Amino acid sequence: MPDIKPERALSDLRTLATFGAYKTGVHRPTLSEQDIAAREWFVGRMREAGLDAAIDGIANILGKSPAAGRKALAGSHLESQNHAGWLDGPLGCVYALEAARAIAEDAATSHLGVDVAVFCDEEGHFGSFLGSRSFVGLLEESEIDAACNATGRPMRDALKAAGWSGRRRHAIDPARYAAFFEAHIEQGDNLESTGLKIGVVTAIVAIWQYRFTVEGEQNHAGTTSMKRRRDAGLELIRLLGTIDARFPEICGPRTVWTTGRIALDPGEKSIIPGKAEALFQLRDADPAVLDRLEAEIHTLVQRANSTGRCKLAVERLSASTPALMDQNLQAALDRAAEAHAPGKHMRMPSGAGHDAQWLARKLPAAMMFVPSIGGISHHWTENTSDEDIALGAQVFADGIVNALRA
Ligand SMILES: [Zn+2]
Repeated sequence: MPDIKPERALSDLRTLATFGAYKTGVHRPTLSEQDIAAREWFVGRMREAGLDAAIDGIANILGKSPAAGRKALAGSHLESQNHAGWLDGPLGCVYALEAARAIAEDAATSHLGVDVAVFCDEEGHFGSFLGSRSFVGLLEESEIDAACNATGRPMRDALKAAGWSGRRRHAIDPARYAAFFEAHIEQGDNLESTGLKIGVVTAIVAIWQYRFTVEGEQNHAGTTSMKRRRDAGLELIRLLGTIDARFPEICGPRTVWTTGRIALDPGEKSIIPGKAEALFQLRDADPAVLDRLEAEIHTLVQRANSTGRCKLAVERLSASTPALMDQNLQAALDRAAEAHAPGKHMRMPSGAGHDAQWLARKLPAAMMFVPSIGGISHHWTENTSDEDIALGAQVFADGIVNALRA
């Protein structure tokens, strides 16, 4: 098996963290000056590794291996959330590059090829997975035309300022690849809290989203008796409380649910709300669990309608499907993890979305997690120990070799 060079990988990660350094993390929004500089630097590192690397018309980077035969594709993203961590994204890019280097340097594996990909805007500053969707052929020019960030800057302007507009967009050649691999920090505490070192992802969860609406009667907060008032806000909170109490009895082991927004109308301190609305989200890797929870939502809404004094309704806004990771690739990562961290790895779903969910539409795909200290991410204190970073890089490279040799 190839030996990765831990110091080289750590040094690359630390250099990337200087682009937009913020406290112990980074502030590197998509196509900011710092993000552009980070991409240019990373292309240079890819070329030094012998990859034929280029940035395309949507700021994706593809570095092609000169090796013959079917290759692995590996990568992640380089931009960050605002004032966020140094590893979310870059870890997967550097692991991919280190795997490509180590595999090429070892005479026993140098015939195996690893292409390295960096997908633009996974963090969604301009849109939803624009880079990976572009790469797999699921992004129209019109969506790029319309894409703007939170400051109102069009993506087209930002690409032009970087000097990349008008370039042809990289497009996946499925015949070139046997597999896609993405490494990432876990962004949760399942690994840390169980003392494990490697997570092998089984599926990237589906997200189902709902809007609850409640109609009551707007009235005076002082003169309307408790007996006759129809408080839409209170009815909504009761429903959410009932859901939260009931779901643990019927959910899956890793189901999560979130009320991301509650709005009361008119939302004044001396007025009983006549209308209330909430945005609610479910995540699970098993559609059967989501079906069951959705049925329960309808039951609870009906019950509230028959017993309460307000009119409640629920509307499904969206329902994605889980992205299943390839079984053989999971086994290839299991074997690599067992070789370097015996008994210290587990299979787990990903509760967060990743570029791999789009690549999985075109290629057998796999994801690997390393521990996040305190389970923290999307914050500048996000971190992983150097030992865990080095171990993960080796397991990742071995996993790719296992898959390419299969
Ligand atoms: Zn990420």
